[in-house]
Amino acid sequence: MKTTSQARKEIDETVDIGNSQDVTKRRVSYFFDCEVGNYHYGQGHPMKPHRVRMTHSLVVGYDLYKKLEIFRPGLATADDMTRFHSDDYVNFLHTITPDNMGNYLRQLQRFNVGEDCPVFDGLFEFCAIYTSGSIGGASRLNSKKCDICINWAGGLHHAKKSEASGFCYVNDCVLGILELLKTHERVLYIDIDIHHGDGVEEAFYTTNRVMTLSFHKFGDYFPGTGDVRDTGYGEGKGYSINYPLRDGMNDATFVSIFKPILRAIMERYKPGAVVLQCGADSLTGDRLGCFNLSLKGHAACVAFVRSFNIPTLVLGGGGYTMRNVARCWTYETAVLLNQHRNVANKLPFNEYYEYFGPDYNLHITPTNMTNDNSDEYLRKVTQTLLKQLYSLEAVPGVQIQTGATSSMTPKAVVELESSKTRESEADPDERTPAIERVEDEREHYDTKNEIPSSAEMDVE
Ligand SMILES: [Zn+2]
Repeated sequence: MKTTSQARKEIDETVDIGNSQDVTKRRVSYFFDCEVGNYHYGQGHPMKPHRVRMTHSLVVGYDLYKKLEIFRPGLATADDMTRFHSDDYVNFLHTITPDNMGNYLRQLQRFNVGEDCPVFDGLFEFCAIYTSGSIGGASRLNSKKCDICINWAGGLHHAKKSEASGFCYVNDCVLGILELLKTHERVLYIDIDIHHGDGVEEAFYTTNRVMTLSFHKFGDYFPGTGDVRDTGYGEGKGYSINYPLRDGMNDATFVSIFKPILRAIMERYKPGAVVLQCGADSLTGDRLGCFNLSLKGHAACVAFVRSFNIPTLVLGGGGYTMRNVARCWTYETAVLLNQHRNVANKLPFNEYYEYFGPDYNLHITPTNMTNDNSDEYLRKVTQTLLKQLYSLEAVPGVQIQTGATSSMTPKAVVELESSKTRESEADPDERTPAIERVEDEREHYDTKNEIPSSAEMDVE
């Protein structure tokens, strides 16, 4: 058993891991559309898109934006969304408004839209905005224009092919992964949101081209899936990894399970790209969460992923105590830039300063809540998962077959189709602190596209 100070030291070292052991600079791109903060799920709803704008304000306040390439993505279209989602569901999202919803009662029920996932003004545009950062980010990674791409507005991991779920309508994580699969044989999805990454797991449950790894509270908790015994099906058997947890996870225990599992995955699976969902509802004091992580514990996972130096799409996700979400994603932006040592605990003045009282500090303090995850329990689950990983064929021999997807088999993958690369490049000289000025209407489309068009693909 490690002492508290030993554990604290290890976390600090883990946050620093990308720096002391690896001096390679990472080119970091950042997708942000200030409009995202203008959408409201409705009064009293815990999901508040405003938190993404608060994050951006801190990223600017700490001068981190100067080290980033900031983009405002061109909007994702309904066509882009139907690479994963069903046509009738996307059509419905496009059509439904608070004014006409009375005429769509059956469909509201069928697509699970109404309560947790309400209809609100601009719903479709909201989905298009958060999705475009994930598809655009993946596309930018594919074209090797950056090493890390951040989209804090994304990470809506619960959405299903034909169903909204858990505040999520369009699953940008799945769409980002599909984009990455155009150039990478294997993609690893990592989810540190407190909730199980069910929508992403389900989309890729039958393929070995995507490995999903989720750490989540399990047992009488939304969405109810993510048992350690759920490991995938068919070709995908063994490629879904679930780490079920109890209340009160703290930094030391979280980092102590995250590192060996990820190390084993990197060794056995060797992904070509990573999608990291950084849901901040696993932090201490979250309105809906029950873990006890500080920013450092959460960010240690991000730093550890970064240390492998694999193209990585970093996404947001849950997080319902807004001020802490903004703190967390700002700090993680700094970690990804290897600038976290230059980020003072005293928050810079910013337009949402009043949210951060009474202390106005960056870092947050865990509570003294009990950690219900005993060392014995964690040791057992870790052993089970390492056994699962080591029983897999080392580096599955899937090959990208241009023009044919028959060997890939997952439902989502056969729906892969060529799509234009979208990303509106902000003029570097225009990378200014004012949120309004990040906008740039110019778009350019990548003409290079090594992926066959859907017509050439062998769709089952
Ligand atoms: Zn969540």
